[in-house]
Amino acid sequence: MKCPICKKPVAVRGKNPFLPFCGERCKLVDLGKWLDGKYVIPDDSPTSMPDEPKEG
Ligand SMILES: [Zn+2]
Repeated sequence: MKCPICKKPVAVRGKNPFLPFCGERCKLVDLGKWLDGKYVIPDDSPTSMPDEPKEG
């Protein structure tokens, strides 16, 4: 099989923890494509808390 990132032949025999990529670098590149724009991290910063009226 070939690496989907760099198109280099990937050795499927033996243990390759980065399959289907040839190595860690290409795996990170693919991950970067995922994180580029598609995956939006919500802004969870506690800027202003909603002021709830207290019953007394
Ligand atoms: Zn590769």
